Amino acid sequence: MRVLIAGGGIGGLSAALCLLHHGHDVEIFEQAPELGEVGAGIQIPPNAMKVFAALGIADLISENAFRPESIEARMGESGLTLFEIPLAEHAEKVWGASYLHIHRADYVAALRAALKQFPAHKLHLGCSVAAYEQTKDGVTAKLSDGKTISGDVLIGADGIHSTIRAQMLGPDQPRFTGNVAWRAVVPMDRLGTDAPNPTACAWMGRGKHAVTYQLRRGELANFVGVVERDGWTNEGWSEGGSRQEALANFDGWHPTVRRIIEQSDELFKWALFDRAPLERWVDGRVALLGDAAHPMLPFLAQGAAMAVEDAWVLAVALSEAERDPTAALRAYQDQRKPRTSRIQDASKANAKTFHKRTLAGLLGTYGPMWIAGRVAPKLVHQRMNYLYGHDVTRQA
Ligand SMILES: Cc1cc2nc3c(=O)[nH]c(=O)nc-3n(C[C@H](O)[C@H](O)[C@H](O)COP(=O)(O)OP(=O)(O)OC[C@H]3O[C@@H](n4cnc5c(N)ncnc54)[C@H](O)[C@@H]3O)c2cc1C
Repeated sequence: MRVLIAGGGIGGLSAALCLLHHGHDVEIFEQAPELGEVGAGIQIPPNAMKVFAALGIADLISENAFRPESIEARMGESGLTLFEIPLAEHAEKVWGASYLHIHRADYVAALRAALKQFPAHKLHLGCSVAAYEQTKDGVTAKLSDGKTISGDVLIGADGIHSTIRAQMLGPDQPRFTGNVAWRAVVPMDRLGTDAPNPTACAWMGRGKHAVTYQLRRGELANFVGVVERDGWTNEGWSEGGSRQEALANFDGWHPTVRRIIEQSDELFKWALFDRAPLERWVDGRVALLGDAAHPMLPFLAQGAAMAVEDAWVLAVALSEAERDPTAALRAYQDQRKPRTSRIQDASKANAKTFHKRTLAGLLGTYGPMWIAGRVAPKLVHQRMNYLYGHDVTRQA
């Protein structure tokens, strides 16, 4: 099978690796002149790491990552710990793979390094896919410089603004979720005793929350601070923000959160958009993958992980039904849609859980969490099984 991929983000590169691993030829078209990512961290949960283990590249991905000891939920102002879910060895034992934090640039670099091991791929940078055409025998990607390239299948891994999605389902806008995310990465040695714990820590607050964790073997600290806001009028998806504004957003919060903001060289404000689950992701020989198919709020840290899972399922489906790629793509969609739709919904629901405003809401939500964390910690851990325990590499 000759597979064309629009988009060289985490989804497109993972798809390329899974397809190459299963013996297909791959051609990737990335609009940016270089492969890269925003200067921020990302969490790789065990469900995604199992795909990398099956590809034989788990060590490569882990090399520059950080392995947190636990997931912590704490109150943003007091720092009170609501509950803790052990990770490290526990993640490997219970969910079958590590839970990692990684700088996005290191993530993409590791995927790129893995790709170089496969001669059956071509990567075109600075090359944008503008449209597609298909017949019953093949599909043609039309590039924005006027060239055309033909293959058996085209995968739209071109992100939330996906051109392929717009052609497949008609133009529409993703919806602003009412949340903006502050993002910063700061060297750990600037943070002294206020440096974040070696955990994935979610800090809860009224109409906002923050996440802190370590990256790059513990050399860097990552900060995400999500604040509710009425609208997003800026045309871009991110804008620089002032330290004063971020500090005002997190006024009175725990020193760990405030110190990271104070010590950051650069702070970005990122508008968070999503879409309701799409009706379909497939049009004949064309399929969507990753954020192009199911963009979600990052409140379960699963958006990229879903793209990685998609990649494996897609590659297996195409291998099993080589003579009928359209049936294979439909099988891929049918297998993936229930899970990604569930996780889109659960990510959205977490905004409500993280951002309680009233005293009744705070007590009614965080009180039971605090009690469960002490009385029935196993139950709290088991609630994560559907996310982290899932193993697409073991499914038929
Ligand atoms: C604040 C925040 C925190 C997050 N944290 C996590 C986390 O901890 N864990 C997690 O799993 N997920 C997380 N996510 C989600 C994750 O970042 C995304 O789900 C993931 O990056 C999607 O990857 P993708 O490859 O599908 O899309 P993208 O990363 O958007 O990549 C699309 C690529 O396609 C290219 N492209 C676009 N159009 C074209 C075209 N027409 N032709 C050619 N190329 C094109 C783009 O340049 C880009 O390189 C977070 C998101 C945010 C906003």
